[in-house]
Amino acid sequence: AAESAAQPLRLTVFGTGYLGATHAVAMAELGFDVIGVDVDQAKVDALAAGKVPFFEPGLPELLEKNLQTGRLRFTTDAASAVAGADVHFVCVGTPQQRTSHAANLAFVEAATSVIAQNLTQDAVIVGKSTVPVGTAARLRELVAGLVPAGVQAELIWNPEFLREGKAVDDTLHPDRIVLGGASAKAEAVMRAVYAGPIAEGSPVVVTDLPTAELVKVSANAFLATKISFINAIAGVCEAAGADVTVLADALGHDSRIGRQFLDAGLGFGGGCLPKDIRALMHRANELGAHRAGALLQQVDEINMGQRERVVDMALEACGGSVLNKRVGVLGAAFKPLTDDVRDSPALNVAAALHLRGAQVTVYDPEAGDTARRAFPTLGYGVSVEEAVEECDVLLVLTEWDQFVGADPQRLAGLARTPRVIDARGKLAAAEWRAAGWEFTGLGRLAA
Ligand code: NAD
Repeated sequence: AAESAAQPLRLTVFGTGYLGATHAVAMAELGFDVIGVDVDQAKVDALAAGKVPFFEPGLPELLEKNLQTGRLRFTTDAASAVAGADVHFVCVGTPQQRTSHAANLAFVEAATSVIAQNLTQDAVIVGKSTVPVGTAARLRELVAGLVPAGVQAELIWNPEFLREGKAVDDTLHPDRIVLGGASAKAEAVMRAVYAGPIAEGSPVVVTDLPTAELVKVSANAFLATKISFINAIAGVCEAAGADVTVLADALGHDSRIGRQFLDAGLGFGGGCLPKDIRALMHRANELGAHRAGALLQQVDEINMGQRERVVDMALEACGGSVLNKRVGVLGAAFKPLTDDVRDSPALNVAAALHLRGAQVTVYDPEAGDTARRAFPTLGYGVSVEEAVEECDVLLVLTEWDQFVGADPQRLAGLARTPRVIDARGKLAAAEWRAAGWEFTGLGRLAA
């Protein structure tokens, strides 16, 4: 045991998407031998060549650095990656099913099976993907039926809380490390894996499998609820002539509430929050916890309603119809600092206006390519100016700094009609109005 403790742990990371690529790089940065495994040959080739196939600040530099040390490799050959490794992280996707709100667990099952079948030595299999409560217990049975004779494998759950745009920092300095269902032996292995972050103060929460699975989805459900709460209050503000941005600042001073996630606007999107609250809604109802299901249903409805609300605001701004109107759209990513357009509210709004006959020009500093692949029929510009040029209405749908800091004076001269809808509540309304823009925000006072 002393000998093996002296050797650096060898890890595999299954799934090298937003979560897995970041995790693999971060684990190599912590000093471990890491092999990232994916079924997508193009992704593996890109990563092996030092290219991150998506936009994530700080990740390309760290990838390059750790490839050069030889500690980090990428492959599609699962069997050879598994052989000889001590810890296997499952970081594959758990998207929403096409025909229901439930999560699709096929990828998690496939990756876990491949790991279990190919083990050549005792190992810990660590689930990081976001899964419905009860999944890990089922995976344990699956693993037990597949592990080769003479090998001991333990499956535990260690949900991931990283945020896109801050993924590297979140992985190296997590707010907490949750370990679900670990024996004393597996807990010791995981404490060794996370020794760096633990030494720097990241708290460790040791619990059972279902609690660990639920911590993750509850965190996302709470954040989603906070956003839908402020959006519901924004509706009251509009009706009552109050200003939700001032209200949110005042609420945020209360340390029990906090200012984060209280920006009224177009609502949440992305590859996580929407599918995670729907999967929890589905699972809660399955388990008979209907109150939680009903609460999350409202959160989802309020959120999706914001997209329709912004479409309606654009129609109204153009006199009831956008047919043949030029609509400038600033933002395609679901939030700033990412090129992720999965379930992006910005692109949903742009596409809805395009369907109604508008000539839409979208600009996003990083998500232009991913957006074009997802919505090829929309028009795309290569600068803020191109989106604003000759527009009848301008929509700010993602709060990139570049948009928040844009000069309304200069842009006013480019628009056909200087009319802006600030769907993220981040523009300085007074400055835009002073520059001649007709300004509308969600839950804010009309001029
Ligand atoms: P993603 O789609 O970017 O990546 C998933 C990867 O898994 C893809 O590259 C895919 O090719 C690969 N894959 C699928 N089946 C495989 C298999 N059998 N073997 C190996 N690789 C396989 O998804 P993501 O955003 O990285 O999310 C992954 C999981 O992490 C999800 O459960 C998600 O909810 C969770 N999560 C994501 C984030 C985030 O910010 N993106 C944060 C926390 C948790």
